[in-house]
Amino acid sequence: MGKATGFLEYEREVGAVTAPADRIKNFDEFHKSLSLEKAKKQAARCMSCGVPFCQAGVMISGMASGCPLHNLVPETNDLVYRGTLEEAYKRLSVTHPLPEFTSRVCPALCEAACTCGHVNDEPVTTKENERLIIEYAFEHGLVEGKEPSVRTGKKVAVIGSGPSGLAVAKLLNQRGHLVTVFERSDRVGGLLRYGIPNMKLDKRVIDRRVKLMEKSGITFKCNVNVGKDITAEELLNEFDRVVLCCGASNPRDIKAPGRDAKGIYFAVDFLKEVTKKICDNDHDYSKVFAAKDFSFGSLSGKNAVVIGGGDTGNDCVGTCIRLGAKNVTQLEMMPKPAETRLDSNPWPEWPKVLKTDYGQEEAIFKFGQDPRIYQTTVKEFKKDAKGNLCGIVTVKLESKPDKATGRMVMEQIKGSEEEISADIVLIAAGFLGSELYVTDAFNVECNARTNVNTAPGKYETSVKRVFTAGDMHRGQSLVVWALAEGRECAKAVDESLMGYSNL
Ligand SMILES: Cc1cc2nc3c(=O)[nH]c(=O)nc-3n(C[C@H](O)[C@H](O)[C@H](O)COP(=O)(O)OP(=O)(O)OC[C@H]3O[C@@H](n4cnc5c(N)ncnc54)[C@H](O)[C@@H]3O)c2cc1C
Repeated sequence: MGKATGFLEYEREVGAVTAPADRIKNFDEFHKSLSLEKAKKQAARCMSCGVPFCQAGVMISGMASGCPLHNLVPETNDLVYRGTLEEAYKRLSVTHPLPEFTSRVCPALCEAACTCGHVNDEPVTTKENERLIIEYAFEHGLVEGKEPSVRTGKKVAVIGSGPSGLAVAKLLNQRGHLVTVFERSDRVGGLLRYGIPNMKLDKRVIDRRVKLMEKSGITFKCNVNVGKDITAEELLNEFDRVVLCCGASNPRDIKAPGRDAKGIYFAVDFLKEVTKKICDNDHDYSKVFAAKDFSFGSLSGKNAVVIGGGDTGNDCVGTCIRLGAKNVTQLEMMPKPAETRLDSNPWPEWPKVLKTDYGQEEAIFKFGQDPRIYQTTVKEFKKDAKGNLCGIVTVKLESKPDKATGRMVMEQIKGSEEEISADIVLIAAGFLGSELYVTDAFNVECNARTNVNTAPGKYETSVKRVFTAGDMHRGQSLVVWALAEGRECAKAVDESLMGYSNL
């Protein structure tokens, strides 16, 4: 432990955040890193408390407490405190295959479980420290694209290039297996690329990593839709193992009269189009703002409604604001969360408290109020004579026991309907598991939520030689879980190929 009294001496400080007024003018990342001197003080706040829930990643009340990757948080913080960033990078790399992604987009389960945040004041800035470490490692050539010294002669196909697929590919290649990643999109990254907006994760950060992975011997084949362009049989003939990392991209729809109105889009389709425009124009945002060929038209002066109060909905709010929407409303089915932890939600559980994310902050700046309306859904989509969306009818919801099952369900409150103007609606209402054409192609067993079934804690599917990881396996989740599953799946594949694994 670096400094026993650091947590008493230094207050939490995070890197500067660009103000909403400036950041909505572009799609740049807006969170800057701390300097090394400041980061050392922050790392000194780590108490090396002896009860490091931060790295435990244990499930409590159905939610993870601490890091699912089991990053060695107190040790890494200590190395940052000492200013030995090369050592910190080595320590971080023991558990973490791709820290540049979580250090930008993770909700930081480690910090929510930090003892310093519980007993003293605010948690240690572990996520910021992780970013400092990995950016230092890139800047100083420590992150290498090296071919493994020995090849095993075994071939593995990874289907899908999201974080789980990237983690599987990186680790199996490192072990000496020859890895080919098949991706149906035009670019690598899964939801890192075409879900999470550029202002949270600059897409050049993915390109930087992919280049090194290619240099280390991994082959990426984009624009190949497995199950359509190439059959499962062909892959199983050519490769010793196949790993399905196809995500859980089947969106939940909103079934209400008028759903066929023109102007209603799924959130990920909308976000993908904007990010693709950014990538196609090498991050020249002036071309993105001037684009006339978005399938959803121009948002300038339009009323946008986002259905879904979660992170994806928030990303849509921030993107609509950047594209010039006149107003953005966000509907959330659930009640407004408490401002602080309830007694029923004690530390180190994940805090179920009100979070005002960047998109909502920007809406407050731009429109003077929080865009979220709670306990509300859409009852009807209104369209004009040409079939274009022109409004929605909202209805309030209340929680009531279901007559058949006794479980609490949200029911509409009669007479609470209201009509609001809407020129575009974005549906960010969650996902319903994996897409069946892929699982059908391999004939793998799925559970009732159409996620691929495996034995608990295992990654091999019901079909021999076919493995799975990430959202396709555990359902829509987080980047850190996709990476953790990718790492564990890589070990399982390696073991099945070699009889043991040293990953
Ligand atoms: C809008 C949005 C924002 C998010 N923001 C965050 C965030 O800030 N922080 C966070 O931790 N998590 C976030 N998440 C969740 C996170 O992105 C996912 O949990 C994570 O990306 C899952 O990784 P994955 O590798 O399992 O799947 P994905 O990232 O979904 O990747 C699956 C890949 O498989 C490809 N594929 C599918 N089928 C085929 C096929 N038949 N052939 C070839 N390729 C195929 C897809 O094109 C895709 O590229 C967000 C999700 C969304 C939708």
